[in-house]
Amino acid sequence: MSSVFHRIPKRNLPVAVKGEGMYIIDKDGKRYIDGYAGGACVSCLGHSEESVIEAVREQIGKFAFFHSAMFTSEPLEELASILTTDAPEGLTRVFFTNSGSEAVESAVMMARQYFVEIGQPQRKKVIGRRSSYHGANLTALSVGHQLSRRAPFEDILANVFHISPCYEYRGRQESETVEQYGLRVANELEQAILGLGPNTVMAFIAETVTGTTNGATPPVPGYFKRVKEICDKYGVLLILDEVFCGLGRTGTLHACEQDGVAPDFLTFAKGIAAGYQPIGATMVNEKIYQAIVSGSGTFKGGYTYSGHATACAAAIAVQKVLRGPGFLDHVKTTGNLLSARLNERFGQHPHVGDIRGRGMLMTVELVEDRSTKAPFAASQDLSSKIYQNAQARGLITHALTGTIDGYVGDHVVICPPLIVTSENIDTIVELLGEAIDAAVLEARRKAA
Ligand code: PMP
Repeated sequence: MSSVFHRIPKRNLPVAVKGEGMYIIDKDGKRYIDGYAGGACVSCLGHSEESVIEAVREQIGKFAFFHSAMFTSEPLEELASILTTDAPEGLTRVFFTNSGSEAVESAVMMARQYFVEIGQPQRKKVIGRRSSYHGANLTALSVGHQLSRRAPFEDILANVFHISPCYEYRGRQESETVEQYGLRVANELEQAILGLGPNTVMAFIAETVTGTTNGATPPVPGYFKRVKEICDKYGVLLILDEVFCGLGRTGTLHACEQDGVAPDFLTFAKGIAAGYQPIGATMVNEKIYQAIVSGSGTFKGGYTYSGHATACAAAIAVQKVLRGPGFLDHVKTTGNLLSARLNERFGQHPHVGDIRGRGMLMTVELVEDRSTKAPFAASQDLSSKIYQNAQARGLITHALTGTIDGYVGDHVVICPPLIVTSENIDTIVELLGEAIDAAVLEARRKAA
């Protein structure tokens, strides 16, 4: 019996013993091709990359950690300098955390502290979006909207107002163009701000490209431009959460580059040290930084391990590869290939309603009926079956049940390490096809 409190105790977990590029190997010697990069984490380099291992070894050999309130360190300074050099416009400072949830929580806390410092303490409300995930601490659960994870905590979560996500497949009406749809859902932000009282709202938070709750869902063109206009009009700070989609995953360094907006806060985690060490970050603009420094002088958030020297050393090695010649072009090319292969395999599939994503972050949405978009009954637990079928065939992928406004449906997220080759993509799509077909067959038999 395992004494580990696993998050999903009912799942039969293989024991991982080794990583090799695109593969994870378990205790019985079975090899799994990694179609999920440990949650879009093992981003650029795949498993067991020697340059990162060496950077970690070297840093631990000097000193592993010292509290960043007492010392700064070379890796900490260098990493901040790398990240801010090519940041979206205006983002000049970076605060380190240990995870994505903490990065989100820090952004919310900084937004609040900023308004307290500048004498607007009445600004305390945050607006988020339904069908979003921002992490698992209480702040991140409050601003996010993953209903099943929020459920036991609803009564103790902060009161956050959630507007519609930008989810074209389920949200756009037939009478609307894509642009009109984007403007309509963005304009919900303005209505929410006006409804709550413009000078009581401090921030709006959104994932630039959603990663988990309803699979990978990119915004439609123009959506974030309108969001930014509205934020600027009412003095509301914009937090873009790129914990999942940031740092190369979508084919550009930052996903928001493709939407032509620069936020007040940008959060990262998975892509920084690619899972070799736990580390997250909140980037912030000078206006907010200066208000805090010239006000009470210290940010009131922060964690013991913020700016952990060994984690920073690992991250520097990862960031150098990511910014190396041709790397992002490789992501764009292989991302286009993944999209093409998914469309070839599932474009006419009777139970695939939508194939969407950006760069190396794609989703296949399953439906019982393509013409009505009706999902499979929740009791079929299709996602779990797909996950298990894929695992049995040696493919790690993320099949999940999305929930929004009473709709519950099945999605598969495909986001392999960014070093993925065209042969790897063929294997992933082939195994995924088998896993989906077998799960659908079983579901249909059960329903008959
Ligand atoms: N934000 C987003 C968009 C995420 O996808 C996640 C994790 N999946 C988080 C925040 C939370 O990150 P962590 O699990 O590292 O706390």
